[in-house]
Amino acid sequence: MSESLTTVAYLGAAILFILSLGGLSNPETSRRGNLYGIIGMALAVLATIFGPHVTAIGIPWIVGAMVVGGAIGLYAARTVQMTQMPELVALMHSLVGLAATLVGYASFIDPAASANFSGAEKAIHEAEIYIGVLIGAVTFSGSIIAFGKLSGRIGGKPLLLPGRHLLNLIGLLIVIWFGVQFLRAESISAGMTPLIIMTVIALLFGIHMVMAIGGADMPVVVSMLNSYSGWAAAATGFMLSNDLLIVTGALVGSSGAILSYIMCRAMNRNFFSVIAGGFGSDSGKPKAVAGAAAQPEGEVTAVTAGETAELLRDAKSVIIVPGYGMAVAQAQHTVFEITKVLREKGVNVRFGIHPVAGRMPGHMNVLLAEAKVPYDIVMEMDEINEDFPGTDVAMVIGANDIVNPAAMEDPTSPIAGMPVLEVWKGKTSIVMKRSMASGYAGVDNPLFYKENNRMLFGDAKKMLDEVLVSLKSA
Ligand code: NDP
Repeated sequence: MSESLTTVAYLGAAILFILSLGGLSNPETSRRGNLYGIIGMALAVLATIFGPHVTAIGIPWIVGAMVVGGAIGLYAARTVQMTQMPELVALMHSLVGLAATLVGYASFIDPAASANFSGAEKAIHEAEIYIGVLIGAVTFSGSIIAFGKLSGRIGGKPLLLPGRHLLNLIGLLIVIWFGVQFLRAESISAGMTPLIIMTVIALLFGIHMVMAIGGADMPVVVSMLNSYSGWAAAATGFMLSNDLLIVTGALVGSSGAILSYIMCRAMNRNFFSVIAGGFGSDSGKPKAVAGAAAQPEGEVTAVTAGETAELLRDAKSVIIVPGYGMAVAQAQHTVFEITKVLREKGVNVRFGIHPVAGRMPGHMNVLLAEAKVPYDIVMEMDEINEDFPGTDVAMVIGANDIVNPAAMEDPTSPIAGMPVLEVWKGKTSIVMKRSMASGYAGVDNPLFYKENNRMLFGDAKKMLDEVLVSLKSA
């Protein structure tokens, strides 16, 4: 394939990726968006393999790598549970970072690559390598820690080293100093030492950055690492002089940055302290370490599935608030069955979605779309929060942090300031969960003790099945 044909194919793929992102921004067009992405990626891979930069000897290697990678991907996609998706995504981000780091080293030690450049071009190429390896290594180690935190292998408590901002600053200065040494190095072996030292610091920085972040702030980390992985891919594109990789990386990087901004706004966190890393516990708000905040007290009122069905049957308006527990229980299909029964009875049923519900951006929207819940009854938090006072039943299914009034009422709470779905303002709220355990942020929830709140204890799927039977039998 000639250079110009490859460029045309790359251009086509870039347009398809932009269309894909556009499609993914709305549940109704997301399937089409996915399709554009698949076609764009197939086009990009074919144009790269058959393009002018791959020799015939290279093709079997590429095909071999694709077979191995494809088989692992297929296996993971088939076996991974829906609830494990967030950690799988974190693991994938780490692979993008690792690839950028390895490509950086390969470009540096490849004599053919360096022979192509001289003078200013060589300096630019080496700067690309240095920055690419830096971003790649931070993304790699940061994502591995995020994987550990999301899968519960590493605790959610933030690790706050004394003088951590100073440590980060010293690390940055050392990285800059070694960057200058790297660019000045006359030979590959002389450049190797600064490159390795910087890589080690970048890996430590990635670990430090994510370890310093508490459970409740993890959504921002997930989207931020998403963004970093895009910039790592763009850096790889610069190192390999591959325009499509630069464009694609920039698309992922900037859309991840926008998502981080949206997440920050949803959680009332400062975007710039997030970018600087190690945020979440001293961002100026009065906060306490989890557990030190006021403990909720009082009695909780438990109800049965039958009583829940009765409350629902008597209601004119119902707002359902799904959370991580709905994903764990895979209760979304039963939720929709109940919705259909209630709507047939003339009840106004709507869903209230918190931006950080579940364990990844859009988690609840994906589950509800899978269960075929109509999009027009699925509302964002801002759209529905004002409607709770006029609502008869607010039904919370496996959610906890996103409906915790402590965020608004207790300034010492670790989640103070985070906007939440104000379900307690409904006439009655029903919380469906298995125990009195706290949510992901480890914060007790005073909602459970409110006078107008009822607790339906048990697995969400099992309880909702029982509610459905009661509703249908009436
Ligand atoms: P939470 O994790 O706060 O609460 C979920 C609740 O579901 C738990 O308290 C649990 O209680 C209950 N639960 C678990 N399994 C079941 C089951 N089978 N049946 C019924 N209930 C069940 O989730 P939320 O969605 O309310 O909040 C999301 C949290 O995750 C926030 O803190 C957010 O910051 C964080 N997060 C979000 C990310 C994102 O991108 N969306 C990424 C990373 C973190 P019990 O054990 O008693 O059943």
